[in-house]
Amino acid sequence: MERLIIDMDGVLADVYSQFRKYEKAELGIEQETAAAIGKAEREAFKNAGTYVNTPGFFLEAPVMPGSVEVMRRLNRKYEVYIVSAAMEFPLSLYEKYQWLQQNFSFLGWEQMVLCGSKKVIHGDIMLDDHFKNLDHFNGRTLLYAQPHNMTKDPGKHVRVADWQEVEQVLL
Ligand SMILES: [Mg+2]
Repeated sequence: MERLIIDMDGVLADVYSQFRKYEKAELGIEQETAAAIGKAEREAFKNAGTYVNTPGFFLEAPVMPGSVEVMRRLNRKYEVYIVSAAMEFPLSLYEKYQWLQQNFSFLGWEQMVLCGSKKVIHGDIMLDDHFKNLDHFNGRTLLYAQPHNMTKDPGKHVRVADWQEVEQVLL
């Protein structure tokens, strides 16, 4: 069985929806999705650093459309690990564990890898929205489309637009 490494934020969890929701609540601004294209999250949402350290931000993040059913099937075909650099936001550790239990209850705790740098991660396929994670990986790499990476050339990585495309490429 091939080992498949899957990211959380911007792949399973729709963090942009959370950024928009928090920004609207705090500043009364409602950004179009297009406004965030080509910008890092912290450029697109000026208080993003505060939001990701607010209790509930990760726990209440919406699930990316279509991901639950595709993940259920991937979990039968591959050795699946959810890998999140959760140490970047230490508050998120327990919330991410709870979120996975709530939304992807078919995954066991052994499959949840909340870590620091992903450079130590090995596997056959990695699905992530950040080049900094994919560039170090010694296997097939899929770049999940998010506003911050939309204007960048995927290079050696295969760009997938949504979970329907993940399904087409991996199932
Ligand atoms: Mg991510």
